[in-house]
Amino acid sequence: MKGVTDIGHGRRFLARGNVYLPHIAVIERIIEETPGVRTFHFNFKDEKLRKEFTFESGQFGEYSVFGIGEAPFCISSSPTRSDHLEFAMQRVGKVPMPCTGSVLALR
Ligand SMILES: Cc1cc2nc3c(=O)[nH]c(=O)nc-3n(C[C@H](O)[C@H](O)[C@H](O)COP(=O)(O)OP(=O)(O)OC[C@H]3O[C@@H](n4cnc5c(N)ncnc54)[C@H](O)[C@@H]3O)c2cc1C
Repeated sequence: MKGVTDIGHGRRFLARGNVYLPHIAVIERIIEETPGVRTFHFNFKDEKLRKEFTFESGQFGEYSVFGIGEAPFCISSSPTRSDHLEFAMQRVGKVPMPCTGSVLALR
Protein backbone atom coordinates (compact mmCIF):
# COMPACT_ATOMS: atom_id res chain seq x y z
CA MET A 1 0.00 0.00 0.00
CA LYS A 2 3.05 2.25 -0.30
CA GLY A 3 1.57 4.18 -3.23
CA VAL A 4 -1.48 5.13 -1.18
CA THR A 5 0.22 6.25 2.02
CA ASP A 6 3.63 7.53 0.87
CA ILE A 7 2.52 11.03 -0.08
CA GLY A 8 5.89 12.65 0.71
CA HIS A 9 9.40 11.84 -0.44
CA GLY A 10 9.57 8.74 1.71
CA ARG A 11 10.94 10.75 4.65
CA ARG A 12 7.85 12.31 6.22
CA PHE A 13 7.03 10.57 9.48
CA LEU A 14 3.26 10.67 9.21
CA ALA A 15 3.39 9.71 5.55
CA ARG A 16 5.63 6.70 6.15
CA GLY A 17 3.00 4.62 7.86
CA ASN A 18 -0.75 4.87 8.00
CA VAL A 19 -1.70 8.52 7.27
CA TYR A 20 -5.17 7.86 8.72
CA LEU A 21 -3.73 7.03 12.15
CA PRO A 22 -4.20 9.95 14.59
CA HIS A 23 -1.45 10.90 17.06
CA ILE A 24 -2.20 12.27 20.52
CA ALA A 25 -1.07 15.85 21.24
CA VAL A 26 -1.68 18.35 24.05
CA ILE A 27 -2.30 22.11 23.83
CA GLU A 28 0.44 23.67 25.98
CA ARG A 29 -0.03 27.39 25.42
CA ILE A 30 -2.53 29.74 23.79
CA ILE A 31 -1.66 33.18 22.43
CA GLU A 32 -4.45 35.71 21.82
CA GLU A 33 -3.25 37.34 18.58
CA THR A 34 -6.34 39.50 18.01
CA PRO A 35 -9.93 39.22 19.26
CA GLY A 36 -11.06 36.03 17.50
CA VAL A 37 -7.63 34.76 16.40
CA ARG A 38 -5.57 32.51 18.63
CA THR A 39 -2.31 30.63 18.15
CA PHE A 40 -2.13 27.22 19.84
CA HIS A 41 1.21 25.71 20.85
CA PHE A 42 1.04 21.94 21.06
CA ASN A 43 3.26 18.90 21.35
CA PHE A 44 2.84 15.21 20.71
CA LYS A 45 2.69 13.05 23.83
CA ASP A 46 5.00 10.48 22.23
CA GLU A 47 8.65 11.56 22.78
CA LYS A 48 9.84 9.67 19.69
CA LEU A 49 7.25 11.36 17.51
CA ARG A 50 8.23 14.78 18.91
CA LYS A 51 11.81 14.22 17.77
CA GLU A 52 11.04 12.60 14.41
CA PHE A 53 8.02 14.55 13.18
CA THR A 54 8.83 16.82 10.25
CA PHE A 55 6.58 18.78 7.92
CA GLU A 56 6.77 21.31 5.14
CA SER A 57 5.34 24.85 5.11
CA GLY A 58 1.74 24.83 3.97
CA GLN A 59 0.87 21.36 5.22
CA PHE A 60 -2.29 20.99 7.27
CA GLY A 61 -3.50 18.54 9.86
CA GLU A 62 -6.88 17.15 10.81
CA TYR A 63 -7.41 18.00 14.51
CA SER A 64 -9.93 16.13 16.66
CA VAL A 65 -10.99 17.06 20.16
CA PHE A 66 -12.65 13.98 21.67
CA GLY A 67 -16.37 14.35 22.07
CA ILE A 68 -16.33 17.84 20.50
CA GLY A 69 -15.41 17.60 16.82
CA GLU A 70 -12.79 17.67 14.09
CA ALA A 71 -11.52 20.32 11.64
CA PRO A 72 -8.47 20.93 9.43
CA PHE A 73 -5.90 23.64 10.34
CA CYS A 74 -2.56 24.53 8.76
CA ILE A 75 0.58 24.07 10.82
CA SER A 76 1.66 27.69 11.31
CA SER A 77 4.98 27.15 13.10
CA SER A 78 8.32 27.03 11.29
CA PRO A 79 9.38 23.60 9.98
CA THR A 80 12.86 24.37 11.37
CA ARG A 81 11.69 24.59 15.02
CA SER A 82 11.39 21.39 16.98
CA ASP A 83 10.40 22.45 20.54
CA HIS A 84 6.69 22.69 19.73
CA LEU A 85 4.18 22.91 16.87
CA GLU A 86 1.58 25.63 16.28
CA PHE A 87 -1.67 26.22 14.51
CA ALA A 88 -3.62 29.49 14.34
CA MET A 89 -7.38 29.56 14.45
CA GLN A 90 -9.83 32.28 13.52
CA ARG A 91 -13.16 32.13 15.34
CA VAL A 92 -15.64 31.50 12.50
CA GLY A 93 -18.44 29.03 12.00
CA LYS A 94 -19.24 26.49 14.70
CA VAL A 95 -15.79 25.04 15.48
CA PRO A 96 -15.10 25.44 19.22
CA MET A 97 -11.64 26.69 20.28
CA PRO A 98 -9.71 24.27 22.50
CA CYS A 99 -8.29 25.40 25.86
CA THR A 100 -4.86 24.86 27.46
CA GLY A 101 -4.46 21.19 28.36
CA SER A 102 -6.92 20.01 25.71
CA VAL A 103 -5.97 16.65 24.26
CA LEU A 104 -6.04 16.46 20.47
CA ALA A 105 -5.84 13.64 18.00
CA LEU A 106 -3.87 14.88 14.99
CA ARG A 107 -3.30 13.24 11.64
C1 LIG B 1 -7.15 22.50 4.39
C2 LIG B 1 -7.74 23.49 5.37
C3 LIG B 1 -6.91 24.20 6.20
C4 LIG B 1 -7.45 25.13 7.11
N1 LIG B 1 -6.62 25.83 7.89
C5 LIG B 1 -7.12 26.73 8.75
C6 LIG B 1 -6.25 27.51 9.59
O1 LIG B 1 -5.01 27.37 9.56
N2 LIG B 1 -6.84 28.41 10.44
C7 LIG B 1 -8.20 28.61 10.50
O2 LIG B 1 -8.67 29.44 11.28
N3 LIG B 1 -9.04 27.88 9.73
C8 LIG B 1 -8.55 26.96 8.86
N4 LIG B 1 -9.40 26.22 8.10
C9 LIG B 1 -10.83 26.38 8.32
C10 LIG B 1 -11.31 25.51 9.50
O3 LIG B 1 -11.01 24.15 9.29
C11 LIG B 1 -12.85 25.58 9.70
O4 LIG B 1 -13.47 25.47 8.44
C12 LIG B 1 -13.24 26.87 10.32
O5 LIG B 1 -12.73 26.89 11.66
C13 LIG B 1 -14.79 27.03 10.39
O6 LIG B 1 -15.40 25.79 10.53
P1 LIG B 1 -17.00 25.57 10.45
O7 LIG B 1 -17.21 24.25 9.79
O8 LIG B 1 -17.64 25.74 11.78
O9 LIG B 1 -17.56 26.73 9.61
P2 LIG B 1 -17.76 26.74 8.06
O10 LIG B 1 -19.20 26.36 7.85
O11 LIG B 1 -16.68 25.95 7.36
O12 LIG B 1 -17.51 28.26 7.76
C14 LIG B 1 -18.43 29.28 8.14
C15 LIG B 1 -18.10 30.51 7.27
O13 LIG B 1 -16.78 31.03 7.63
C16 LIG B 1 -15.92 31.01 6.49
N5 LIG B 1 -14.60 30.61 6.99
C17 LIG B 1 -14.21 29.36 7.36
N6 LIG B 1 -12.93 29.39 7.81
C18 LIG B 1 -12.51 30.68 7.72
C19 LIG B 1 -11.28 31.36 8.06
N7 LIG B 1 -10.25 30.71 8.61
N8 LIG B 1 -11.23 32.70 7.83
C20 LIG B 1 -12.27 33.36 7.30
N9 LIG B 1 -13.47 32.79 6.96
C21 LIG B 1 -13.58 31.48 7.18
C22 LIG B 1 -16.54 30.01 5.52
O14 LIG B 1 -16.17 30.32 4.18
C23 LIG B 1 -18.04 30.18 5.78
O15 LIG B 1 -18.53 31.30 5.08
C24 LIG B 1 -8.87 25.31 7.19
C25 LIG B 1 -9.71 24.57 6.36
C26 LIG B 1 -9.15 23.67 5.46
C27 LIG B 1 -10.09 22.90 4.55
